[in-house]
Amino acid sequence: MFRTAWTIGRIRGIPLRLHVSLLLVVPFLAASVAGHQLPRALRQVGLTIDDLTLPASLLGLLLAVALFVGVLLHELGHALVALKQGGKVRGITLMVLGGVTEIENDEATPRQQAWMAFAGPLVSLVLGVGSLALASVGALGLDLSLMLAIFGWMNIGLAVFNLIPAYPLDGGRILRALLAMRLTPLRATRIAATVGRTIALSAVAFSIFFHFDPMLLLVAAFVYLGASVEEAALTQRDRLGGLKARQAMVTRVASVEPEMPLPAVARHMLFQGAAAALVRDAQNIYGVIVPSDLRRGAEGVARNLCPNGPLFVHVEEDLGAVARELQRPGRRGAIVQDDFNIIVGVVTHDELARASALRHAADAARPASPDTNRPVKAESYDRR
Ligand SMILES: [Zn+2]
Repeated sequence: MFRTAWTIGRIRGIPLRLHVSLLLVVPFLAASVAGHQLPRALRQVGLTIDDLTLPASLLGLLLAVALFVGVLLHELGHALVALKQGGKVRGITLMVLGGVTEIENDEATPRQQAWMAFAGPLVSLVLGVGSLALASVGALGLDLSLMLAIFGWMNIGLAVFNLIPAYPLDGGRILRALLAMRLTPLRATRIAATVGRTIALSAVAFSIFFHFDPMLLLVAAFVYLGASVEEAALTQRDRLGGLKARQAMVTRVASVEPEMPLPAVARHMLFQGAAAALVRDAQNIYGVIVPSDLRRGAEGVARNLCPNGPLFVHVEEDLGAVARELQRPGRRGAIVQDDFNIIVGVVTHDELARASALRHAADAARPASPDTNRPVKAESYDRR
């Protein structure tokens, strides 16, 4: 998902990445702190920039970097709770809108999910209050106390912002987890996503009519799209639950060598009428290529499109579980095997969408169940 990021280290085995957008936002933030926050904080105590020992620009830069350290600690709060609950953390990426932690914790109970979502804002809150308390100790000197005070308020702001119940922000995740204690996961997600989108649209309206703020619009777009994407993903998993991998696999699969240039892969797939290509040599299978990977002018070889390695599923695997694996970043297709580990087909995103649409259409003809968001399991009439 984040190919324009550098891995700078690992914490408890979690890769820590810096996104290229930080290169833009750190200097911008540093200038904003040096030009606005610092002079304002100084004015409140009757001082000016000239009373500082260090140059304001240096303090601004230090604070900008410190803020991202604060964001990192916030994300680590989520990540370490997820690890403790038995989940997996694929990585933490620091980027323009803060941090993104890729967590796989599907087995977590709603109570655990709520705690995992709350852990980040809690870290920010503790950091903020702790820094403000330190800043109020007089003997630290003006520069350090001022930095601690600004750092403290920034972290409290971060905590409060993330606690807004606009899914997929942390507050929205807490809301969804609380709803999921009483409702199905899909219904809880739908309500939380609707609340998230409503808040996002209100923020857009506020920005248009009262106070234009490009950052607010960016965050609103992030919330609106994020809520919609997560709701669509869960809707698809819910619809596909109960179906089998074989019901959504394509058998028109080409085989290509890992070193085959991409234009040749496209020609080969077209010639064979294939919906997917298996990248393999005599010893290994590297992954799956689908037509949407192959753009005009794309350079490189087949193996470059398989950075995550192959994903194998059994032919009788639950399609909802297959969808959950394929919805992870960078997954293009699941390789379907039978009882003898023989490859019989590939499930791609296109096929998931097709099966999901068919399932939806098929269910519409049936009498509505008491909870219409919970489709009747398909085994009863779809088993072959
Ligand atoms: Zn968070």
